[in-house]
Amino acid sequence: MTEKLRRLLPNVQKPARYTGGEYNEIIKDLENTRVRIAFCFPDTYEIGMSNIGMRILYGIMNGMDGIWCERVFHPWGDMVQAMREHDLPLWALESGDPVKDFDMLAFTIGYEMSYTNILNMLLLSGVPLHSKDRTGLKNMVFAGGVCAFNPEPLCDFIDFFCIGEGEDITPEVVSLYVRAKAENWTKEAFLRQVSQIPGVYVPSFYTPEYNDDGTMKALHPAPGAPKTVLKRIVEDLDKAYYPTKTIVASTEIVHDRANLEIFRGCIRGCRFCQAGFSCRPVRKKSAETLLKQAKELLTDSGHNEITISSLSTSDYRQLRELTDQLIPYCEAGKINLSVPSLRADNFSKELTARLQTLRKSSLTFAPEAGTQRLRDVINKNLTEEEILSSCENAFRGGWSSVKLYFMLGLPTETDEDVKGIAELVHKIILCWKENATQRKKGLRIHVATAYFVPKPHTPFQWEQQITTEEYLRRCRLLKSYFYCKSIEYNYHTPDISRLEAVTARGDRRVGPVLEAATKNGAMLDGWDEYFNLQAWNAAFESCGVDPDFYTTRGFGEEELLPWEHISVGVTKKFLLRERKRAYAEEITPDCRQGCAGCGASNLLREVECDA
Ligand code: SF4
Repeated sequence: MTEKLRRLLPNVQKPARYTGGEYNEIIKDLENTRVRIAFCFPDTYEIGMSNIGMRILYGIMNGMDGIWCERVFHPWGDMVQAMREHDLPLWALESGDPVKDFDMLAFTIGYEMSYTNILNMLLLSGVPLHSKDRTGLKNMVFAGGVCAFNPEPLCDFIDFFCIGEGEDITPEVVSLYVRAKAENWTKEAFLRQVSQIPGVYVPSFYTPEYNDDGTMKALHPAPGAPKTVLKRIVEDLDKAYYPTKTIVASTEIVHDRANLEIFRGCIRGCRFCQAGFSCRPVRKKSAETLLKQAKELLTDSGHNEITISSLSTSDYRQLRELTDQLIPYCEAGKINLSVPSLRADNFSKELTARLQTLRKSSLTFAPEAGTQRLRDVINKNLTEEEILSSCENAFRGGWSSVKLYFMLGLPTETDEDVKGIAELVHKIILCWKENATQRKKGLRIHVATAYFVPKPHTPFQWEQQITTEEYLRRCRLLKSYFYCKSIEYNYHTPDISRLEAVTARGDRRVGPVLEAATKNGAMLDGWDEYFNLQAWNAAFESCGVDPDFYTTRGFGEEELLPWEHISVGVTKKFLLRERKRAYAEEITPDCRQGCAGCGASNLLREVECDA
C-alpha cells in the first residue's frame, strides 16, 4: 500500500474496500511473474466480491504459471474525489501497484449501467481511454461477461472481447499474450492472432455502415476476421474449475456467504429474459460434485451461510438428492442454506418445510405479469392456480412475508393487465386470510415493478420500450388499486432503465455518448445517490444522438441488428418464431416437455442439452 493511500484511508467510507490483505488473497513474487493482469470489476468492492464469475476467473488466471492476476474495483465517490485531489492513480488490491503498470486489463461486465465505470477506471488509471491510442502490447484491455453479447457501445475503448463463458477462452488468450510479450509482437500482430481464437471479437477489425435512416446497413469484417463470433461454453461443469478456496472479504459485501453454482442455462424460455437464452444450452453439475464443493467452500471459508444459485433452482433435477445431504450437513454446522430462484409452479411444500428448519427467509416469486394472457405472451408458463397454491403451501408452512416481482411495459400490455397485477395481489392476501398458520405479525407483501427493457438475443429484442411518461402512468394506475396496508409497492426509476435500453441495444455511435457522459461526471450510475441524468442528457445533446432511436423505436425484423454478428447459439429463426407465438398469446412448453429447437444444443460436442 502506498503511503499516499494510507494517509487517505481514514477520510473515506469503508476503507477496507481499498486495502486488500484478505484471507485467501493471492500474492505472487514479481520475479517469477511474466504477465500481470489487472482484473477490473466496474463497480464497488461489495458488488464485485459477490460476483461468482469474478471468483472463477481470478482462480483460473492465478492458476496459470507466471501469471499474477490482481483485483481492481471502482472506488466510491469520496475516494474518487480524494484520488483526483491527491493525484493518486487507481491501484490493484494485492500489490497496491498502479493499474497502468499492468500488461493486461480484464473487465467483466454484467450490467449496462456500469459502462461509465469502465471508462472512469481507465481515466483514473491514467491508461489511454481509446483502444486506438494504446499502440503497444502494454495495457491490453479485454472484456467479457453477459453484456459482451452486444459489445458495440464499448468498441472504442476495448481492444478485444471474449464472448461467452470464460473458463476455457481466458487461459487461451492470456497464453497467447505471454507468447506475444516474450517474442515482442506488435499490438496488431497480437490482435490478428487472438481474433482467430473461437469466441474472440476484435472490434477494430470490423467497420460499421449505416443507412440514411440511421439503421445498420452492414458491419464489414476485415480479411481474416470471422463474420460471426460464436460464444464459448463449458460443456462439462463437473470437470470445470470451481473456486472452493476463495477470498473471504474483510468488510461486509452484498452476498457475504458461500455461493454454489448448480447449473447453467434455463429450460423455461421466458421471452424477455436475456440470461435465459444467452446462457443456453442447459448443463448441470451432479449432486455429488456439488456436495463436495459445498463442504470444501464452507470448511475453508468459515462462512455460516451458503446459497445454491442458478437461473431457476427448482428446475434442478437432483435438488432433492442434493438438499437431502446438504440440509443435515448445514444443520450440524449451524449453517444457513438459502435457495433463491424457486419458481411458483414447482415450489414444493416439502422442500420449504425442510428449509424452514434452517431459516425462514421471505418468500419471493416473479410472476412478471398480472394476467394469464400476458404471462402467456411472455411465455412465463405460470398459472394463477400455481401461484396461489404455492402461496397456500407457504402460508400453511408459516410464511407471512411475500415479495412479488412484475414488469411494466411488456409487449401488448394493456391497462387490464396492469389491473390484473393488483387483482392477483389481492387474491394472495385472501389466500393468506384463509390459510395462514402464522398471524401474529400479519402479512407483508412487497410488490415491485421493473420497467421492461428489450434485450439482445431474446424474442423481444425487436420490441419498443414504452415511454417513461407512459411507464409512470401505469405505475400510478397500479398504485391506485393498492388500498390494503399490508402492501408495500416500489417501482424502478425509469431514467436508469431507459439508459439501460440505450446501452443494451446501442451501436458504436453510443460510444462517444458514454465518453461524454463520463467526462460530464457520470459514474456509479447503478447507485441512486450517484446517478447523474444531466450528465447523460448533456452527452446525448453534445453527440447529437437521439436515445429514443434505441429505446421507444421498434427494430424491424429485416433490420441488421447491432449485435447480429455475435451468436449465443440460439438462432434468429427460433427467436422470430417465439416472437410470433408471443403475439399469438401462445406458450412454448419448457424444454422438459420436449426440445423447442432453439439451436443451442449445436454448441455441445460431448454431452446432451441437459434440459
Ligand atoms: S436445445 Fe432444446 S432443450 Fe436445449 S435449451 Fe434449446 S430448446 Fe431447450
